[in-house]
Amino acid sequence: GDRETFPGAPDTDYANAELREAAKQALVKVRNSLGKTYLPLINGEYVQTETAIDSVNPSNPSEIVGKIGLISVEQAERAIEAAKAAFPAWKKTPVKVRAGILRKAAQIMEQRRHELSAWICLEVGKVLQQADAEVSEAIDFCRYYAKEMERLDGGHNFDVAGETNRYRYQPRGVAVVISPWNFPIAIATGMTVAALVAGNCTLLKPAETSSVIAAKIAEILVEAGIPKGVFQFVPGKGSQVGAYMVKHPDIHLIAFTGSREVGCRIYADASILQPGQKHLKRVIAEMGGKNAIIVDESADLDQAVAGVVQSAFGYSGQKCSACSRVIVLDSVYDAFVERFVEATRSLNIGAADLPSTQVGPVIDATARDRIRDYIAKGKQEAEVVLEMDSPENGYFVGPTIFTHVSPTAIIAQEEIFGPVVALIRVKDFNEALKVANGTDYALTGGLYSRTPDHIKRAGEEFEVGNLYINRTITGAIVARQPFGGFKLSGVGSKAGGPDYLLQFLEPRHITENI
Ligand code: GLU
Repeated sequence: GDRETFPGAPDTDYANAELREAAKQALVKVRNSLGKTYLPLINGEYVQTETAIDSVNPSNPSEIVGKIGLISVEQAERAIEAAKAAFPAWKKTPVKVRAGILRKAAQIMEQRRHELSAWICLEVGKVLQQADAEVSEAIDFCRYYAKEMERLDGGHNFDVAGETNRYRYQPRGVAVVISPWNFPIAIATGMTVAALVAGNCTLLKPAETSSVIAAKIAEILVEAGIPKGVFQFVPGKGSQVGAYMVKHPDIHLIAFTGSREVGCRIYADASILQPGQKHLKRVIAEMGGKNAIIVDESADLDQAVAGVVQSAFGYSGQKCSACSRVIVLDSVYDAFVERFVEATRSLNIGAADLPSTQVGPVIDATARDRIRDYIAKGKQEAEVVLEMDSPENGYFVGPTIFTHVSPTAIIAQEEIFGPVVALIRVKDFNEALKVANGTDYALTGGLYSRTPDHIKRAGEEFEVGNLYINRTITGAIVARQPFGGFKLSGVGSKAGGPDYLLQFLEPRHITENI
């Protein structure tokens, strides 16, 4: 199969005392270098800005992880100019050279793995082990897209006698990448290097709350040899600078991962032809989910409970892939709920950098308040079976489970992006599938079952981009589980899969009569 040809970077084995010590040392070192200022990179220069923001540790917001200079609209304009100027040479740069820069970046990330994991842990509140897995994913994206572009570079030949027919891919132009904070290195790196290796000049605008890690990506790409103007780091206000770049007539492509609200706005804004614009923009958008796991009467409940706990509460439920609905068949409902609640109760909630922590904070005060509002709404429409306490200092929300939730309740329909689960009771498997499919989203889904017919039907009828049978529904691996959804979860692109780079390319065909 395709997989054997792509071995991913191995995660750190924290059972190994030496590696555990290295990770601990990196955390100390990073902690000693908090509070520095990071500047935007425009046309190969780090530039001063008029405004800056603080990025804080969500486990302990008095700790400033770094200060980030935010670009102005004029600076965004300069960056787009520089990208345009750099494009002709980058387009002509052999794919082998472009891919070489990605491989070099991967190598640097591998060398700096513990340090990068420590930055992730402190800037976005992700426990080390999950931060480490994310660094592996970023490395995999670099190596996989390098390899993919080399494959696509061959194009297709449809020659016949007396006539050559050559089908080739060229880059689109200038790309803007708007990346999320929840996978601050993996997703930002993935979208950026995909755009770059395809030959597009690329501007990276990260989510504000993960700007320091994005600045590290910029450092790494520069060290790996990315030419000036080809890659630029443009932190800025989304509603102002982000919107300006999306609407700019010289932008050809926008790659976005984030909320449904912002994704839909980008899609709409990008569709409007601006004065002087001579092309239509391509939008790649990965948005939310309201992902369900179905537990049927034949499920191994131990496995189901462990899988749901991890899928729902890993990184406090702040993954688009996270489980937020559990649809349980009547005959096993009570047994499942009891065991699920007990398993959740045993989770350790605390600062992300403590080795004992299983559930860390949420990203910021706005997120915490939004999640708390949903919990309050949930109390009006369903019954709470568990609402865990959480530390006072820091942006924490304790895991919360609702039972007897109606499939149409707000907490069963809207993406909460926090550690909140709605349990829904159904009479049979038909109803389970109907409820599972009854949202606006189609990202991930899961089924715990030992019934071959149910497994087959889920494959055919469960409307999701990524379906997982008898395992967790988070943690897709590059080139093994290409990741992405459809309906209002996104435009159907699959990160880490064989079709992904095609979206960053323009196919051309040349026929020659010989
Ligand atoms: N790829 C991640 C996973 O499989 C989710 C990405 C996201 O949350 O945007 O868990």
